[in-house]
Amino acid sequence: MVIMDGKKVAQKIKREVLEEVNEIGLKPRLSVILVGNNPASQTYVKNKKKDCEECNIIVDEHILDEDIGQAKLLSLISELNNDKVINGILCQLPLPKGYDYNEEEVLSAINPEKDVDAFNPSNVGKIMIGKYDFLPCTPAGIIQLLDEYHIHTDGKLCVVVGRSNIVGKPMSMLLLHRNATVIMCHSRTKDLPSLLRSADIVVSAVGKTKFITRDMIKDGAVVIDVAMNRDENGKLCGDVDYANVAPKCSFITPVPGGVGPMTRAMLMKNTATALKKQIHHSED
Ligand code: NAP
Repeated sequence: MVIMDGKKVAQKIKREVLEEVNEIGLKPRLSVILVGNNPASQTYVKNKKKDCEECNIIVDEHILDEDIGQAKLLSLISELNNDKVINGILCQLPLPKGYDYNEEEVLSAINPEKDVDAFNPSNVGKIMIGKYDFLPCTPAGIIQLLDEYHIHTDGKLCVVVGRSNIVGKPMSMLLLHRNATVIMCHSRTKDLPSLLRSADIVVSAVGKTKFITRDMIKDGAVVIDVAMNRDENGKLCGDVDYANVAPKCSFITPVPGGVGPMTRAMLMKNTATALKKQIHHSED
């Protein structure tokens, strides 16, 4: 059994991004919008800033009061869209509850060329047809991790559990583009354990501790655990009952240290890509 070291692979990707940035000779500039003071979002933004520093990417933080409102948020996005020095824009989700925010409208407002999270419907649509500029960071990170460990998906039976717009759906599309046979599962799926037992590759993005147990995994399967949950002691863990499942797997991602760091590294990659595309565009 091989433990897939997302931390190590993420470091490698960030070094490559740094080299790429140094080669371009211009620092990419990323605007991060954070509305309100959700502690988890604050931590995510802090980590993104740290990654940006490592990759020579300039970050502009826009911290907005939780009651700033949809109109002012959209107006900031419009300003950033029109600012030529800004290469990437992301709005940290979720937006504060109890206010009249419309996340879909916010994501749609971000210029697709600066949409480094790839959540704008135009970028989402491109993923469907397999012709994309940006990929959402978590599924892209998982594909990169599979490649790094030479895990082929061609003809493999992949079971993706969870159908969110940010993980499950794009993950399934990317696996399909790579010639896997994909089964997308969700809370209404019947007899999930028997579907899981047939899988060569399992990707779990549910958000429930010890949701995937040893009896659900076939010998030699590859198990990718996307979730970030807390166990009864408050320790970070995934969906998979790791201690009991790992010995049965050929490859498995740990939590923490698996998919999480890869997600962060792919954001850096997307930001460098945005700069390159914008330079190219301005030269046309
Ligand atoms: P989400 O929006 O939280 O939705 C969870 C998904 O799990 C839904 O599609 C839901 O089905 C499905 N589900 C719930 N109970 C189920 C059950 N009993 N059987 C089968 N499916 C079930 O998903 P998300 O935003 O992708 O987040 C999932 C997890 O990944 C969370 O722990 C989150 O923190 C983590 N995450 C990690 C990263 C990373 O970088 N590591 C990135 C993003 C998210 P329905 O659609 O039917 O409700």
